[in-house]
Amino acid sequence: MNSDSNRTTGSTRGWTIFAVTVVLVLAASVSLSILQSLEALEERRAQSEAGEFRLAAHTLEADVMTSTPAHHLGHDLDWAQDTLARDPSVAIHALEEPDRRETRELLERLTDDHHGLGFEQLDRLVDLFAEAAESSGEAADAAERSAIQMLGVAAIAAAIAGALLLNGRRRERLLHASLRRQAETDELTELPNRRHLERALRDAGERMRLEGGSTGLLYLDLDGFKGVNDSRGHDAGDSLLTLVADRLRRARGAKETLVRIGGDEFAVVLVGITDEAEARAAAHRYLEILDRPCELSPHQFETMRASIGVAVTSDPSSLDELRREADLAMYSAKVRGGHGIALFDPSMREAAELQSDLTRALRAARIDEEFHLVYQPVVNIHDDSVLFAEALLRWTSPELGAVPPMDFIPIAEQCGEIHKLGAWVAHNVIDQLAVWSTDSELTEICISCNVSVLQLADTEFVDSVIQHLRRSGVDPARLTIEVTESAILERSEAAVEQLVRLRDAGVKIAIDDFGSGYSNLGQLLRAPFDVLKIDRALLLELSAMRQAMGGDPAMPCDIMSAITSIARTVGTDVVCEGVETEIQRTSLAASGVTHVQGWLIGKPTSPAEFIRVFGRKVIAA
Ligand code: C2E
Ligand code: MG
Ligand code: MG
Repeated sequence: MNSDSNRTTGSTRGWTIFAVTVVLVLAASVSLSILQSLEALEERRAQSEAGEFRLAAHTLEADVMTSTPAHHLGHDLDWAQDTLARDPSVAIHALEEPDRRETRELLERLTDDHHGLGFEQLDRLVDLFAEAAESSGEAADAAERSAIQMLGVAAIAAAIAGALLLNGRRRERLLHASLRRQAETDELTELPNRRHLERALRDAGERMRLEGGSTGLLYLDLDGFKGVNDSRGHDAGDSLLTLVADRLRRARGAKETLVRIGGDEFAVVLVGITDEAEARAAAHRYLEILDRPCELSPHQFETMRASIGVAVTSDPSSLDELRREADLAMYSAKVRGGHGIALFDPSMREAAELQSDLTRALRAARIDEEFHLVYQPVVNIHDDSVLFAEALLRWTSPELGAVPPMDFIPIAEQCGEIHKLGAWVAHNVIDQLAVWSTDSELTEICISCNVSVLQLADTEFVDSVIQHLRRSGVDPARLTIEVTESAILERSEAAVEQLVRLRDAGVKIAIDDFGSGYSNLGQLLRAPFDVLKIDRALLLELSAMRQAMGGDPAMPCDIMSAITSIARTVGTDVVCEGVETEIQRTSLAASGVTHVQGWLIGKPTSPAEFIRVFGRKVIAA
């Protein structure tokens, strides 16, 4: 650094202005905060005194010297000067390209001990130079000398500060990227997770905004995964999820982001697609890749099937909606029996809205006021004597009006209200039996009530029925519990256990809706039951089949005869539901069906009306 005292004040001033400019340029590149502090300095400068300049100059000098050990400072200053003399742009490069070789050298030499040369000192250097440029006299000369001496330090300080800043930012960016990767990765499968899905959808929206096109979203949920977890344990469940994730990864296309949302749910974002057909084709690809069994451990295979919901949009502002639509579509694929694909359509949203209205109303319902039971007779097919009355639940919601059980029972099952509601029905039926028993003419009457499989999964329900029967003094044999065929098949063990308890207590059991699903007679016969109720759907199907073949609908039906003969073998009554015509009744009687229920005999009605019309026939029973 040249400090020749023979230089004219003018040339010194010119040098100082140059120095100030260099530093200001560097400082400006370093950080906006320095520019802001410069503004503050401007203000201070206007008010300051010459003595303060000197003091400032010395303080600064002392600062730089103490924070930069002398042996380093001298050496580095020389080196820095050389470097800057060879290529003055190195400081600028340091700011612009922290990875350049020169910058690295600069940084390597001026690390550790030099970190003290940060913004604070740079600020003060700028302050000093600015003061010197504007002032005059002795104070100005002193300030200028100090400033000139330190120009090299200042330039390097600026370069280092800038490089460190940029390097720091880059490191920060890298760190941030790695933290983000960690935060957006699912630990088990190492697939991107739900958080990443949000980002992928945002990116897809951005792309749609810029380039048009559509975004597709697939929601994939494994069918029956819970069963694997329950039967084989959580470790096996985890292994299976990892295998499934690997499979899905293999099926992934170039424009697709595969994500594990959580549990057994996965999602795929499809960017830049043209139409629904493309999304559907992708869904098929994922569905098919799961079709081959996964080898959980040597010779232990498990086939995991999936339900996939597909939704597509070309509107970048509707991505939240897209998620909901894909979810609804997936739910619909599940309801249709799983192992399939459903494309979103608006009726799914309406159904979901109705479902949420029903759920809300059900949760808020005052059972005693809004619900009541109606009774429908089940009669002997030959003499119309009453076997029992089936209690059927009715709901009149103040908000939604009359809601049929086929609509509210599944929702009550989903939201858990079925337990409260089901217990209310059973207790009400027992109370009704108690009331009717006080009438000497009705002491023989029996009632059946429908029970959801979820109630049977809960031992409390059976306990409460048995207790309520005891408390009311009603003969348990006058109560029949109807449980659907599908309930027994789906949850056979738990359900059968509770049915056995009920039967041991003297309660009768009816299998409801027989023939409505995939009947498995072998499995059904393992359950204890007294009555087999043939579903109306089977009756209609068999009639239609016979008509199509040109048969006489009043003649016996072979399949009905086969069912009744099995029922006879195991000693149960056979009731056919939904009988509406005399022809049906004639054919059923000829096929060996012993009892019928349906509009032909009587519609469900109030207890009083039931007794008025059928009371006499009970006595005949
Ligand atoms: P379900 O137990 O099979 O009851 C028979 C259904 O068929 C009743 O419908 C009845 O009104 C109807 N039905 C009877 N005869 C005829 C006929 O000749 N033609 C036609 N078209 N229909 C006939 P509902 O009352 O709407 O009940 C529907 C289902 O809701 C019931 O089927 C039962 O599964 C369920 N359900 C009703 N009450 C309860 C209850 O208290 N608890 C539970 N868990 N489910 C109930
Ligand atoms: Mg029933
Ligand atoms: Mg039924």
